[in-house]
Amino acid sequence: MSEAHPGRLAVRAVRELSPYVPGKPISELERELGLRDIIKLASNENPHGPSPRALAAMRAALGQAWLYPDGACHELKLALAQQLKVDSACVTLGNGSNDLLVLLAEAFLTSAHSAVHSQYSFAVYPLAIRQTGAQAIEVPALGADSEMPLGHDLEAMRAAVRDHTRLVFIANPNNPTGTWASGGALKRFLERVSHDTIVVLDEAYFEYGLERGTPDGVQWLAQHPNLVITRTFSKAYGLAGVRVGYCVSHPEISDVLNRVRPPFNVNSIAQAGALAALADQAHMRESVAETMRELTRVERELRRLRVWTAPSATNFVLVRVGVPAGPVYERLLRAGVIVRPVGGALQDALRISIGTRAHNDRMLEALPRALS
Ligand code: PMP
Repeated sequence: MSEAHPGRLAVRAVRELSPYVPGKPISELERELGLRDIIKLASNENPHGPSPRALAAMRAALGQAWLYPDGACHELKLALAQQLKVDSACVTLGNGSNDLLVLLAEAFLTSAHSAVHSQYSFAVYPLAIRQTGAQAIEVPALGADSEMPLGHDLEAMRAAVRDHTRLVFIANPNNPTGTWASGGALKRFLERVSHDTIVVLDEAYFEYGLERGTPDGVQWLAQHPNLVITRTFSKAYGLAGVRVGYCVSHPEISDVLNRVRPPFNVNSIAQAGALAALADQAHMRESVAETMRELTRVERELRRLRVWTAPSATNFVLVRVGVPAGPVYERLLRAGVIVRPVGGALQDALRISIGTRAHNDRMLEALPRALS
């Protein structure tokens, strides 16, 4: 009998996890509802895509796909180090920044430890923490009526740190709220938090945030050896499908990550694409600027619909529709518009990515009907 349940053999911490639920892929909705012309505003992707130079570099790299990639990601690491003005020993590459979040948890946590994250933050944090057997300490977010509604309460997060807390995850700007912490608040946090706690500052939306005044965490690395900054090529650089992210940290932390990192975690197509995308800053900046113009327009239109929106420094917006979001999400799906229901304690919330102007128009046309 027991042979029929091999899943029970998994370690307890893993058995107790609920899997991450990604945004619904377009192909799945096509199969389910037989729809065509579907738009996806559910995973904060960048519909402007990568630089044409990145596409050309990836095509060229295909010819060498029979070779293992450079496991050290030498060229990409050097280019990032140069751009960030840090030593290349401070840079670690990952299969998306998600990979690095999980590696950090693996390297620093056991069942004797804990890690702190905020309520309404990136769903991967508690998963990465709990799979190591460590305790995930969720700190209540700021209230809906605060200056940064539903954002991180950094004071409370610092106060939640215990002797056994090895990691604190801070997303700046944050997903799914879009909110952000100021440079002053983060600096204060870093100055006061225990030096025996690694602060993971997740800047997946950094390039968008810059447009609305979010700080650049790299400036604090030299003074705070317990700081790790994670970033990604999935958002502003338009390369979500090939999976490249990186972190910047004290070299000892890179060294630790290199011990747990699978030898070839970033494939050669991704390395070539990221290197070329990084070299084309003009393309990235123009795509970010266009997205932020559209964000401003979408925010204005949503206000006209009298739905509540959280302030956003990202390529998405959190919308509270004032009624259970599930049926609204379903009606949007039937209109061929995929967004993301937030769930948990935000049952009336949808997270809507900013698409092209045409995508946003489709969403803005479908939403009032889905609400009525
Ligand atoms: N951090 C945050 C806050 C995110 O929203 C995401 C992706 N949705 C990631 C990290 C991971 O992105 P990736 O693995 O594509 O770099």
